Amino acid sequence: MKNEEMLRTENLTFEYIRRDEEGNVEGITKAVDQVNLDVKRGEFIAVLGHNGSGKSTLAKHFNALLYPTEGAVWVDGMNTLEDSHLWDIRQNAGMIFQNPDNQIIGQVVEEDVGFGPENMGVPTQEIWQRVEESLKAVGMYEYRKASPNHLSGGQKQRVSIAGVIAMHPKCIIMDEPTAALTKRESEELYKITEKLRDEGASIIFISHRFEDMYRLASRVTVFRDSQYIGCYQVDEITNEELIKAMVGREIKDLFPKPDVEIGEEVLSVKHLSRVGYFKDVSFNVRKGEILGLTGLVGAGRTEVCETIFGLEKAEEGEIYLNGQKVRIQCPQDAMKLGIGYLPEDRQHQGLILDWEIGRNITLPIIDQFGSKIWLNEKKERELAKEQAERVDTKALTIFVKASALSGGNQQKVVVAKLLSADLKVLILDEPTKGVDVGAKAAIYKIMGDLAKSGYAIVMVSSEMPEILGMCDRISVMCDGRVTGELNCGEATQERILEH
Ligand code: ADP
Ligand code: MG
Repeated sequence: MKNEEMLRTENLTFEYIRRDEEGNVEGITKAVDQVNLDVKRGEFIAVLGHNGSGKSTLAKHFNALLYPTEGAVWVDGMNTLEDSHLWDIRQNAGMIFQNPDNQIIGQVVEEDVGFGPENMGVPTQEIWQRVEESLKAVGMYEYRKASPNHLSGGQKQRVSIAGVIAMHPKCIIMDEPTAALTKRESEELYKITEKLRDEGASIIFISHRFEDMYRLASRVTVFRDSQYIGCYQVDEITNEELIKAMVGREIKDLFPKPDVEIGEEVLSVKHLSRVGYFKDVSFNVRKGEILGLTGLVGAGRTEVCETIFGLEKAEEGEIYLNGQKVRIQCPQDAMKLGIGYLPEDRQHQGLILDWEIGRNITLPIIDQFGSKIWLNEKKERELAKEQAERVDTKALTIFVKASALSGGNQQKVVVAKLLSADLKVLILDEPTKGVDVGAKAAIYKIMGDLAKSGYAIVMVSSEMPEILGMCDRISVMCDGRVTGELNCGEATQERILEH
């Protein structure tokens, strides 16, 4: 049995010592507490938990970057506290970090793969052989002479994986490797990881997105608030149980869909077409209703939203608001009619990062506070504060710059910004993309409250759980067309996929 074991922790506890600027001890943060975990050879396990739950701290112990405050860690039978093992451990437990930029140092790709300190001691010819083999394994061989600076995030990530593979490690620890990747790049990464596992490596895959792990892991370990919650067999735990383990709440509390009386039709889109993007798209949404617009990425959903909001023009079709045909030429027209849009790319489209939160929130209605030179700042701030509180933004004051907030809180500011205008329809494009489970729950709560107060909401999302958990009706798009519509009662993941 012992032979089977790759990694093991015994009552692993780690405390960070916090110091102030002068170096005086301020306090202690217990980041992991009494963790007992074992990973077998060739096993693929997922580590889940939202931000700050202790995942990275655990991971750094497997590579001897951190040493236990209490308890012990073994890598391939070697105790990490014994100095003589350090080299073997670093060589056999490869680490891949969230941000590949930190790992890329060379001028050309192949240097990055070959000249890692890990490979010193291996004869030169063998190094180049390994570089070639590992760049091929991640599909980056043709880029071997390119400068890493010119690569996309996903390509850089693949180069840093090649660097790890070249060491021929027995175990690979990936700390949020998909965080900076597009969906497509993530898919590629999954394939590479699966292959490494099939070749016998143990994999620890750390993520805060539970969608990541399903197809890959045999077991999943959950952390919450520095506590080790448990380790489960993937095929024995349901979505609901897993979410509950991560957030400590029931799933019905995660998707707080209130009972809302659904009213008259507010927005209706008829036969909307834009050549090359979507064709003959029709749907409607009523007061108090949440309509889900789902389908595969690239099905044309974002383009439909942009067209309704006046960012793009449709060649054919009509848009009706409260039964009246409307002409929307630009976003200002849409806002005046009461249509708000939360773009998918909130950092670039949704916020002015250099501005204070407060000013971001009141931007859509800045005219109301006076002319460009003479603003009634007091009134503006009062309103900004009120809206920020409405969406429960965890920032100290509305004077903090938007760039200083976490992704989840930035998203809430964008929602607050929409609320400051007097709207009837909200179009939300992937509102929870890239935010952790805690912030997700908060955004769902806001959506539920807004529906209750009479907004008609269209939510674009690729995430089945939130579509099924939050929507009253679901329209499925595929290749630029609406291919089906389902009521919330009859919708299941399988039925959506059929469409
Ligand atoms: P995760 O990877 O799950 O987001 P981390 O392991 O990074 O979580 O953090 C766990 C806890 O330890 C958090 O409370 C975090 O604030 C704290 N922490 C992380 N790194 C440090 C550090 N270098 N100094 C002090 N506290 C830290
Ligand atoms: Mg982390």
